Amino acid sequence: MRADLHVHSSASDGTDPPAEVMRRAAQAGLDVVALTDHDTVAGHAEARAAAGRLSLLPGLELSCQLGGRSLHMLAYLFDADQPELAAELARIRDDRVIRARAMVDRLAGLGVAVTWEQVAEIAGSAVVGRPHIARAMAASGAIASPREAFTRDWIADGGRAYVGRYALDPVRAIGLVRAARGVTVLAHPRAGRDTYVPDEQIAGLAAVGLAGVEVNHPDQSDNERDKLLALVHDLALVATGGSDDHGSLTGHRLGAETTAADAYEALVSRARPGGSVP
Ligand SMILES: [Zn+2]
Ligand SMILES: [Zn+2]
Repeated sequence: MRADLHVHSSASDGTDPPAEVMRRAAQAGLDVVALTDHDTVAGHAEARAAAGRLSLLPGLELSCQLGGRSLHMLAYLFDADQPELAAELARIRDDRVIRARAMVDRLAGLGVAVTWEQVAEIAGSAVVGRPHIARAMAASGAIASPREAFTRDWIADGGRAYVGRYALDPVRAIGLVRAARGVTVLAHPRAGRDTYVPDEQIAGLAAVGLAGVEVNHPDQSDNERDKLLALVHDLALVATGGSDDHGSLTGHRLGAETTAADAYEALVSRARPGGSVP
């Protein structure tokens, strides 16, 4: 069984619509795919309709912050209509618009000819994010390709035009998702200097109900994966994996990283004790 539990679509900052993501997932030989767009479940219906023989695991990637650092939390199998969770997701999405507008203003101040209208048009119905601003910057000729926007000169974390955002406390995120009958997995805790989550913090999250840690991720070295596996074992958590595919933005890599069958089953049974694997 091949399960990729971390995939984005154009419902957030991926480049491919959900149906296309599912088509590519089938092509990549996957059996299970989790659609985990940032702070939205808007892509789930289209993905489900296009799933065919694939199992779609409904998911989400929540923007969180701990000790002044950003941290991403994957959530699965929750009830998206649960009022508290739905309200929190709406708040995060509203803030994304405020923040994107503020970054566009800063770019204008730096002489970049990008307008909010252009960014909004590129984002369309998607949850607006930095990749949409990056594409507008490239279209304006300020940079040669969207990737170049993610430097300290522009909109990388701490960059000249960067604006921080409202983000959930991860302990609250875990509680919200649990209240909605779902499970949480800490995303890519060792993917880089800006996103390093130390052992003690992971243990703290495990103590309040974290179900798993994403061990297999393209940006995590073998050395970090080994250390995470040992920690996951000590804390009795589930080790997951996913490609974090964003379509052409990351290079198509669906299925490049996967979750083992027993880990997938363990994750599902934490959300649905005694229930069946979807
Ligand atoms: Zn992430
Ligand atoms: Zn992601």
